[in-house]
Amino acid sequence: MAAPCRLISRLAVVSGGGSGIGRAVCQRFASEGASVVVADRNEESAYETLELLPRDYRGQEHVTLGVDVSLRESVGQLVNTIQPPSICVNAAGITQDEFLLKMTENDFDKVIQVNLKGTFLLTQAVSMALVAAGISKGSIITVGSIVGKAGNIGQINYSASKAGVEGLTRTAAKELSRYGIRCNCVLPGFIASPMTENVPEKVINKITPFILLGRMGKPAEVADVCAFLASDDSQYITGVSIEVAGGLFIG
Ligand code: NAD
Repeated sequence: MAAPCRLISRLAVVSGGGSGIGRAVCQRFASEGASVVVADRNEESAYETLELLPRDYRGQEHVTLGVDVSLRESVGQLVNTIQPPSICVNAAGITQDEFLLKMTENDFDKVIQVNLKGTFLLTQAVSMALVAAGISKGSIITVGSIVGKAGNIGQINYSASKAGVEGLTRTAAKELSRYGIRCNCVLPGFIASPMTENVPEKVINKITPFILLGRMGKPAEVADVCAFLASDDSQYITGVSIEVAGGLFIG
């Protein structure tokens, strides 16, 4: 079945666009007609994503830009280099797993800096650019995680960062609705990507029985939901979190 073309003439910036879920989002948005800014700390992988993007629509152009979302200056440079993007996906993220009793302050801070502060910085910069340009239509998508709700052993920093992303998204939705900007959060479950490729088989086998659909998810399945949230098909939806987890329940 051909992909719908709901994003023609839209400009989308995708942080973490060089890998996994962010890359799949770039591919899906481009196939729906958007021009995509692939933004990542790893410029080489961002370029690899760029090479995969279709350009089937008139005026459709894609670029890569290096960014470290945890640094205000870097995010400012990214947003100042492009036209105000009416779609923004915050997919950059890291893990640094350790038990609470052993977690260093540095590893706690690093994960908060990228996952939570990075989402704040990019969301703020993009919404400021849209408001300043008088563009009264926008969709900002944040990427939380099912573990932000449920908690997860060994992820004290990560689960805190992702719970924070949900709260940030709901507040941004309340403050930005008057400017026509919607903000929603996707909560992936257990998705097969470079982030999870080192999870031992033993752990995967332990988690899978708790996934109603009986398997790990694909980045493209998260991208499907991001495309819905970016498009006018979700024009009456803001301030929500959508689980994309195959019914995963971490009890
Ligand atoms: P990934 O590791 O494949 O991709 C993450 C990308 O973010 C990489 O390209 C990396 O270079 C980039 N990045 C990291 N730090 C950055 C920074 N400071 N500035 C800019 N770019 C940076 O991971 P993924 O699985 O695609 O995860 C994407 C998002 O989805 C993350 O926020 C992650 O926490 C979230 N998530 C993933 C899963 C999963 O199971 N894979 C589950 C829940 C949530």
